[in-house]
Amino acid sequence: MSTPNTPFEIARETLRQLVARRIPPTPDNYLTLYREIAGIKPSGDPFPGKLLRSLNSELPKSTPDQLRLARLLEEAVKAESWDDYKAHLLEFIAALTESQKLQWAELIGDLFKQWEARHSGLTTARKREALEHVLSGSGANPETLYNRLTSLLRSWGQGREVEPSAPLAEEQRVSDAVAAPAAAATGDNLLPELRQLFAFTLETAIATQLVENSQLTSDAKALANDIRTARNSGQLQEFLTRLKRFAFKLELLAEDQAELRNSLLGLLRLLVENIAELVLDDRWLHGQIDVVRGLIDKPLSQRSIDDAEHRLKEVLFKQSQLKASLLGAKEAIKQMLAGFVDHLADFTDATSDYHDKIEACAVKISAADDITALENVLDEVMRETRTIQLNALRSRDELRATQRQVEESQERIRQLEHELEATSDLVRYDQLCGILNRRGLEDMFTKEVARATRHDMPLCVALLDIDNFKQLNDSMGHDVGDQALIHLAGLCRDTLRPQDTVARYGGEEFVILLPETQLGDAAAALSRLQRELTKKFFMHNNDKILITFSAGVTEFADTDDQASAMKRADGAMYQAKQAGKNRVISV
Ligand code: GH3
Ligand code: MG
Ligand code: MG
Repeated sequence: MSTPNTPFEIARETLRQLVARRIPPTPDNYLTLYREIAGIKPSGDPFPGKLLRSLNSELPKSTPDQLRLARLLEEAVKAESWDDYKAHLLEFIAALTESQKLQWAELIGDLFKQWEARHSGLTTARKREALEHVLSGSGANPETLYNRLTSLLRSWGQGREVEPSAPLAEEQRVSDAVAAPAAAATGDNLLPELRQLFAFTLETAIATQLVENSQLTSDAKALANDIRTARNSGQLQEFLTRLKRFAFKLELLAEDQAELRNSLLGLLRLLVENIAELVLDDRWLHGQIDVVRGLIDKPLSQRSIDDAEHRLKEVLFKQSQLKASLLGAKEAIKQMLAGFVDHLADFTDATSDYHDKIEACAVKISAADDITALENVLDEVMRETRTIQLNALRSRDELRATQRQVEESQERIRQLEHELEATSDLVRYDQLCGILNRRGLEDMFTKEVARATRHDMPLCVALLDIDNFKQLNDSMGHDVGDQALIHLAGLCRDTLRPQDTVARYGGEEFVILLPETQLGDAAAALSRLQRELTKKFFMHNNDKILITFSAGVTEFADTDDQASAMKRADGAMYQAKQAGKNRVISV
């Protein structure tokens, strides 16, 4: 076959050869074979535009540098300039390596610095935990690792520097613990990361702060679960509503805790102020410490602290008064005894002097040889004897006077104790029944009203008066009446809830405060108390004595003060008496 010369012949021969050599008929193969047959020298590899364009489309374009590179490479492809393409790529890689090298070095340096620096609330263990979280969460992607590590170090760096000896605050610990997920939140992952962070905050940071409030703890955990599982905007909306309610409850709790803290501080101050006086007598100190110990043993509540504070104030007041009197009395007795001992010494001196003198007289008597000499000696004996008689009489009188004064002092102390019991302004407990008295009630009433207003919760007040109490007194005696009052007070305490306040208002009248209780429930509580009185009888000499009472119950209104609410309860109680006694009327 002749050598093909015309393009037509070359083309035909190319096709024939493709078939004969079983070469796939791709455009490239065709071109190569065509050039071979036509005797055209290959002019180098063709420009792989298609491949490069496809590569360009997949290049990352999230930073300005990456975008710039993509643009330059596209231009190079358009111009079919492999040289430009290569130059841009090499330049970019060189710059990248250079800058990455520098930044890593800086970052590692920073890591060392922050690791060794002391941050408030950041322990080494916490730092390690956060670092491990970032390392394990960044996989094999150096860029992600770099960004997350940078964020983590920035969050550490924002922590306040503290003295090496300063204690670590718990809240900082928590903020540190959340720093790791915060640092991990980048780019497209922001939303899920944020949800995780939110859930983490609710579960760890908030729930752990609420250990004393199981309801709020479980609320926080439930909310954490909600935000983790919320899949659509409806569920998110629902979550937000519940979150707002939760925040409101937290706010109330914070107020309560502030009040609790203030009361505790007040209590401590009271102790510290008085400690100097207390150390005079160990038993006194023990009394104080017992109250505080009892308080610490129980879970803290506003009511138990109020209770301890009142009792402590009362004890302190009484003790300081009594101590002053006792010290005075002791001093008086000491002085009297000292005086008496002085006299006794004088007396002993005088007696031994007397004996010496009498002995001398005896010698003179035996030596006397005339009556005059004897007379003189006798005079001397008489004189000495009279002196000693007078001394003895004086000492006896003084001893009696001392005795009398000691008795008077003791009586004075007893009297003082009585006076204090009866008249002290600070006494808030009824001495007979051991519950709050009227003054104590006023304080508690003020506190309960404030609490009810703050929490927007109802507060009920009941006034109860024993029926026909005069008759019981008259028939069985005043002491039995007293025992009946004690019985009723004890039953109230046992039957009602711990948060209810029972106080003796006066005589045979009692007031009960029922916080967080609706009127109907308060009336029901009083009726329950009436039933209890028919089960747990007041016993006297093995006789069952039925005590009944009439009560008026009312709910404290926004417009009320203590007096107006008491007046209403009193009116209702009066109605109960009028209606035949032994009943509860609510208004
Ligand atoms: P009513 O059913 O109408 O309430 O009649 P009452 O007898 O209970 O009421 P009244 O007011 O006539 O009498 C109250 C009595 O309570 C008179 C008083 O001597 C007695 N009392 C007040 N305080 C005490 C106390 O501390 N101990 C004793 N044993 N009796 C007291
Ligand atoms: Mg009465
Ligand atoms: Mg009565």
